Amino acid sequence: MTESQYARVVQHSADVVILGAGPAGLVLGNLLLRSGIDCVVVERAARDHIQNRARAGFLAANTVRILERNGLDEGLRRRGQEHGICEFRTEHGRFRLDYRLLGRGEPHTVYPQHELVTDLLAQYVDAGGRIHFDTEAVAVSDADGPTPTVTVREGDGRPVRWRARYVAACDGRHGAGRRSLPPGVVRHHRDHAVSWLGLLAEAPPSLDAVGYATHPHGFAGHMARSAEITRYYLQCERGTQADTWSEDRVWDELDLRMRASEYGPLLRGPIVQRAVVDLESDVLEPLRHGSLFLVGDAAALISPSAAKGANLAVLEAETLAQALTAALFHDDPEPLASYSERCLAHIWRAQEFSHWMIRLLHGEPGPEGDSLFQERLRHSRIASLRTSRAQQDWFAENYVGI
Ligand code: FAD
Repeated sequence: MTESQYARVVQHSADVVILGAGPAGLVLGNLLLRSGIDCVVVERAARDHIQNRARAGFLAANTVRILERNGLDEGLRRRGQEHGICEFRTEHGRFRLDYRLLGRGEPHTVYPQHELVTDLLAQYVDAGGRIHFDTEAVAVSDADGPTPTVTVREGDGRPVRWRARYVAACDGRHGAGRRSLPPGVVRHHRDHAVSWLGLLAEAPPSLDAVGYATHPHGFAGHMARSAEITRYYLQCERGTQADTWSEDRVWDELDLRMRASEYGPLLRGPIVQRAVVDLESDVLEPLRHGSLFLVGDAAALISPSAAKGANLAVLEAETLAQALTAALFHDDPEPLASYSERCLAHIWRAQEFSHWMIRLLHGEPGPEGDSLFQERLRHSRIASLRTSRAQQDWFAENYVGI
């Protein structure tokens, strides 16, 4: 940029600039606003897009408590559905776990993520929160100094600079937060070598439970989203294009893997959304670089096998909001200093459980000739879960816990 172009760049300021309006960015924005902290959210997508982006649906009990104690739970209290049963369908029969009666006795609340985002956004805007849609953060600079700067590009291509005291990168895995990290940041990465075809069907749930099916053709999953919408997953070959499976093939394969002929038919309906998800995990360490903080998927990516991503995002957003309040209002830097360590403890525990779920449902890729051994281990894991009360308590605590 030339000097005269640079002089024309519009400059704004806020105490905290939040990148991204997903669950992490919007919980953080609401909590900062409530504490009286001057903040702004910049979001790459349009409002309509984020309000209709179907993703997570299972909220952990702790997530519900966080939303409740911060007055962000009105929609989920009215429309969320308590849920507490898993049904496993395997080569050796089926069994159900009512996890409300196991572990800590806590249920999930089923509430689609895009509805939560819509609620959080409405509350933020109604409370006078500033948000810029169609505005992409390009880079965060000077994060190691007292006034970090976020360069954004607005819808018309105009560059704008935001000066801040703190920047919260809630902009996911491919966002500007991650791109702006200094060299030396550790990224732990695991490709689980498994892919799922994720499907959203305009069809009522076929089961009163989350369904996990293991089958020689691969894994299949069933998760209610609402009375009219159900999410299904089908394990598929790595590199599969989402649109290569016809609707008939999808439903026939779901019937086969979920053993509909033995346990009852699946309720069919049009597939309204599909995407291939490669099961991957990564964790960045540390989550703080000067005045730049990583939150949610920007901090760690977790495979959807155990439904932890949105729940971690909410927990980290609350932790960061409390830490920023302590720093800005009480001159107490300690909570910010320990933000990374505290969140990483939760992240690694969730990663461990998610990894265990992947091995439960898929086995583990082993060396050539090892597949039968891996298969026997997988059967044994499922048998333990079916028969051991201690294992079931452990499962329940980790499945709902965060
Ligand atoms: P996001 O929700 O990804 O939000 C990031 C925001 O940043 C987006 O709005 C994006 O547009 C914006 N953005 C990106 N780059 C920029 C930029 N450069 N500048 C400005 N804005 C930017 N989790 C669960 O807990 N339970 C589940 O049941 C579950 N199911 C899932 C099913 C699927 C198919 C998928 C894909 C995920 C699922 N997850 C689930 C994971 C969950 O959806 C994510 O972990 C969650 O969305 C993370 O929230 P976030 O706010 O960190 O990021």
